[in-house]
Amino acid sequence: MSAGYDTIIIGAGAAGLYAALHAGRRERKVLVLEHNGEVGAKILISGGGRCNFTNVNADDPKRYLSANPHFARSALARHTQHDFIALVNKHGIAHYEKTLGQLFCEGARSSAKIVRMLLDECTSAGVEIKTNWRVNAVRRTERFIVETMLGAYEGGALVIATGGLSIPKLGASGFAFNIARQFGVPVIETRPGLVPLTFAASDLAWMSALSGVSTDIIARVGKIEFREAALFTHRGLSGPAILQASSYWRAGESVIIDWLPSMDEDVLARRKRERPKAQLKTALADLLPERLAAALLSWSAGEAPALQNIALGDIKDAGLINLVRKLKDWPLTPVGTEGYAKAEVMVGGIDTNALSQQTMECRATPGLFFIGECVDVTGWLGGYNFQWAWSSGWAAGQAI
Ligand SMILES: Cc1cc2nc3c(=O)[nH]c(=O)nc-3n(C[C@H](O)[C@H](O)[C@H](O)COP(=O)(O)OP(=O)(O)OC[C@H]3O[C@@H](n4cnc5c(N)ncnc54)[C@H](O)[C@@H]3O)c2cc1C
Repeated sequence: MSAGYDTIIIGAGAAGLYAALHAGRRERKVLVLEHNGEVGAKILISGGGRCNFTNVNADDPKRYLSANPHFARSALARHTQHDFIALVNKHGIAHYEKTLGQLFCEGARSSAKIVRMLLDECTSAGVEIKTNWRVNAVRRTERFIVETMLGAYEGGALVIATGGLSIPKLGASGFAFNIARQFGVPVIETRPGLVPLTFAASDLAWMSALSGVSTDIIARVGKIEFREAALFTHRGLSGPAILQASSYWRAGESVIIDWLPSMDEDVLARRKRERPKAQLKTALADLLPERLAAALLSWSAGEAPALQNIALGDIKDAGLINLVRKLKDWPLTPVGTEGYAKAEVMVGGIDTNALSQQTMECRATPGLFFIGECVDVTGWLGGYNFQWAWSSGWAAGQAI
């Protein structure tokens, strides 16, 4: 058995590295074990290689899903986006605000700078990191014994930072849930989140012909709605509005689409007065991408395909208003999602009722901590998931 550590962290992703550097700064002896050949694989590919590392609104707990919506509040409030931005600034990493408060690094493949920053901070805090290191088993005596392919390590605290189930080819594993089972920690059912939605053949018949078309929409699931772009794909719908909605979507539910989010229901009736001779399909193509306008119109026209070529002036106002209402309240029922292979995150995870809100420590097993995406806290698209990794990692880093 090797000399003991104060803390052993399993998983060198966003949360694990962040917890490690903060514990190391507190002069704790920290070992991080990572089964991949490199650390921070998801950070590297995140944000299209520019890492959307936080959001100016990231301390708003309403932008996180959890069976216990209050759980994330404490960590998010005590270690905020401003703390992380200060670290990014300290390392001179150029960044910019994109839409909706999203903060990205500047330049192609600049997400590598975030990984470098975390590694430099870990080095100066004396953290030891072992990559390509497989953990075989964990035992608890007085302390935690982590048995690996190359010997056992002993730690006073054990932090599970192995992330969620999305994108297995990047190293995602169910390790956190094996540990949860072993120590009797409850788990909230998991499902893919921030993931494209798939549709039955009847919907795909018109959707796949639109593959590549992108348009601004409002997507509603239950009481929540997102206004951003939607993108048609060969398998269904993607784009930020759909990805956001997917995290809230449950099998069997409909997603309600407003294809005309900036328009009121009188929009076509007003156009009729301005241009009574304009064909309906032309008028609609002024409001929507042309191919989408034609597809939605022929779908809503149903048994009256001639509607497309009718002049606005030949349609009663009530008919035009009804059509716009339909386009603003268009139910689509996905048959599924593209699954963990394409999901940006996992929804669900370690039940937060089992953890301390302040430290992420397991109430029933002192010394055992869960942080980051393996916990049942899932952020919106736009830098929220990294902020949860930083904030929960920091919280544990103060306690281990
Ligand atoms: C394509 C993509 C793009 C994304 N872009 C963004 C973005 O721009 N902004 C944002 O906020 N979020 C983004 N996310 C989500 C974000 O990457 C995650 O929420 C975040 O990385 C979670 O941090 P984590 O430390 O909990 O898990 P991870 O970063 O996934 O780290 C877990 C680590 O544990 C390791 N591990 C797993 N099992 C074991 C084991 N058994 N033994 C040892 N090590 C193990 C893994 O290899 C990994 O290194 C993106 C996700 C994807 C898939």
